[in-house]
Amino acid sequence: MSKDQLLEQIEFLKQAAELTGDARLKAALSMIQLMPAGSPQQKGMVAEVYRQVKEAMNGYSQASAPELEWEPTILPQAPEGDDQYDVIIIGSGMGGLTAGLELASAGAKVLILEAHYTFGGAAHNYMRKGKYTFDAGVETVSGLGHLGSVNHFLKRHDLWNDIELLKTSFHFRMGSRYVAIPNTLEDWIEDLCQRYPNDAEGIRPFFQTAITAYEEKYSFFEPDRITPRPPTDEEKMSYAQLHPNNYRLMTTTWGEFMGEYLKDPALRKEVSLLTHFIGDRNEDTPTSDMLPLLGYFIVGGYRIKGGSAKLANALISKFREYGGVARHSVTVNKVIIENGVAKGVETEKGTFYAPIVISNVDPRLLYENLVGLENLTEDYQAKVATLEPSMSAFIFQGVFSKPFPTDAIVTYYFDEPVEAPEIGMTIGRCSYVSAGTHDPELLPDGEGQLTINLNYPADADKFAAMSKEEYAELKEKLDGVFMKLLRKIDPDMADHLLWFEISTPKTARQYLRTYQGSIYNIRFDKDRKFPNTNAPIQGLYLCGAGVHGPGVEAVVISGGYASEKVKSHFEARREAAVK
Ligand SMILES: Cc1cc2nc3c(=O)[nH]c(=O)nc-3n(C[C@H](O)[C@H](O)[C@H](O)COP(=O)(O)OP(=O)(O)OC[C@H]3O[C@@H](n4cnc5c(N)ncnc54)[C@H](O)[C@@H]3O)c2cc1C
Repeated sequence: MSKDQLLEQIEFLKQAAELTGDARLKAALSMIQLMPAGSPQQKGMVAEVYRQVKEAMNGYSQASAPELEWEPTILPQAPEGDDQYDVIIIGSGMGGLTAGLELASAGAKVLILEAHYTFGGAAHNYMRKGKYTFDAGVETVSGLGHLGSVNHFLKRHDLWNDIELLKTSFHFRMGSRYVAIPNTLEDWIEDLCQRYPNDAEGIRPFFQTAITAYEEKYSFFEPDRITPRPPTDEEKMSYAQLHPNNYRLMTTTWGEFMGEYLKDPALRKEVSLLTHFIGDRNEDTPTSDMLPLLGYFIVGGYRIKGGSAKLANALISKFREYGGVARHSVTVNKVIIENGVAKGVETEKGTFYAPIVISNVDPRLLYENLVGLENLTEDYQAKVATLEPSMSAFIFQGVFSKPFPTDAIVTYYFDEPVEAPEIGMTIGRCSYVSAGTHDPELLPDGEGQLTINLNYPADADKFAAMSKEEYAELKEKLDGVFMKLLRKIDPDMADHLLWFEISTPKTARQYLRTYQGSIYNIRFDKDRKFPNTNAPIQGLYLCGAGVHGPGVEAVVISGGYASEKVKSHFEARREAAVK
C-alpha cells in the first residue's frame, strides 16, 4: 500500500468513525494512530479495518461471486406436455411457495414438487388421534405490518381474505418471576424501566437506538415489494451517514450492543427472550439478525388461525388458480445437469424438464445429494463443506383434560438448571406455547394442549445410528425429562396430561428434510455471503431459510429474490404474446 493510499484510507476511517460514532471503530483508529506511521503493522491493520468497514457498507447489496454470473434461459413460449415446464420448484416451504406464486402469476408454467404428504414445509400441521391438530413449526408470523414483505406478498396475490390472524403475546419467566410482556413496545419499555430502575437510564436509549436501526433497515422495504429495494449508488457511498445506527450495529453481537446500555443480567435475558427464534447463539446472535425480531413488538407477530397449513394451503390454491401444478409425495432425487446447465429433475415418479430449477431444499443437502459434488468446482465443494446445521430441538406435544391457562409464547429460565444426566443435558431454559388455548378450534372442546421446545444440537446421525431398542430407551428417558419440565411449568396441568409425544432431531430430519435434522436449516451467516440465490450451475436458483435466514418473513424474502431473477422475462413474454 502506498503512503497516499494509507493516508486516504485512514482519512476514510476517521470520517466513518465521526459519522457513526462507532466505539469499536474509534478504538481501532486510536490503535492505528499509536502505531509507527507507515509501518507494516499499521498498514496491515488499516487494510483490515478498511476492508471490514467497506464490507459492512456493502452489506445491503447482494454481492455475487464471478462463477454465479449467468443469464437464465427463458423459453420463447411455455412448453407443452406434462413433463415439460418453464420452472420446477423443489420443495413447498414458504420460500418455494413464494417463488411459485410469483412466477406462475407472471405467466410461467411452474411445477412444485414436494416430498412430504402435504405442502408447507415447516408451515404445515399434522393430526393425531383423529382430533388434535399440531403445528409442525410456525407458531407466529412477522412481516405483516405496512412495510412487511409477507403483507405485501399476501396483498399482491389477494390472499388477505383467505386467512385470519390471532395476535401473539410473549411472556418471560425467570424462576418464580413471571412477566406478561405488555402488548406494545412503549408499554414494555415503561414496564422495564419500573422493574429495573437501576438500568432505566440505559433502557430508553437502548430501545431508541434499536428502533431507529430497525427503521433504517426497513427503509429499503416499500409498498408492494417483497424484497428490500437495492440501494442507489449514492446510498451505498453514504450508507454509514444515512443509516448510522444500523451501520454501527451491523458488526456487533446482541450482547455487545446490550452491553453498552444494560447491566442487570435478568434484564438482558428478558430483552433477549426471542433469540431462540433464530438459533441458539443467545447473546452472541448478530444484532442485525435480532433487529427484525423487534417487529414482533413494534408491529406484532400473528398466529394463523387454524394453523400455518391454512396459509400454505391458501398459497397452493392461488398457485393452482394461476395455472401452476403442485404435487406432494414426490421426492426429487437429482437435479439433471448437462454441461454445467440445469435441465430438470429426476424423481421416483418420473423425470420432469425445465430450464429453470428453484431449490427450496437445505443447501447442503441440495449440493451434496441432488446436484452432486462432482458438478461443483473444488473451491465450491470446499464452501459447501463449511455449511453447518443450525440448532435442532426435542419437542414435546401434549394434550390435557382441561385448557392450558395461557396462550402466550413463554420463554422460561429456571432458577436452578434442571439436571438431566440421562440425556447428557443441563437444562437452563425452555420455551413453551399452547396453540390450543390461542386457537381452540385445534382441539376438542374443553381439552388443552402444550408444546415445549428444548434446544438441542442438530445431530440426527447420532440418533439414526441407534438400534431400535436404544432409540426406544432414549425416548423413555426423554419422557422422564419432559415430565420434570412439565411439573416445573405447571404442576396442575401435569396431573391432567392425557397423551403426549416427543420428537428428536431424527424426526426433524425425516419430516423437514434438513441437514442433520436442524429446525432452522443450515446455520445462516450473512457475513459468509454464501449460499447465494444463484447456484454455480446455470439455471439453478436457491431459496429458503438456508439462503436468507430462518422464519417465514425471511424465507418469503428469499423466494422473492429467487423469482426476481427471472420474473420480468416471463412478464415480457406474456406481454409479447398478448400483442
Ligand atoms: C419447530 C419450528 C418452529 C418454528 N417456529 C417459527 C415461528 O414461530 N415463526 C417463524 O416465522 N418461523 C418459525 N420457524 C422457522 C420457519 O418455519 C422456517 O424457517 C421456514 O418456514 C422455512 O421455510 P423454507 O422455505 O426454508 O422451507 P421448509 O419449510 O424447510 O420446506 C422445505 C420443503 O422442501 C421439501 N423437500 C426437501 N427436500 C426435498 C426433495 N428432495 N424433494 C422434494 N421436496 C423436498 C421438504 O419436505 C419441505 O417441505 C419454525 C421452524 C420450526 C421447525
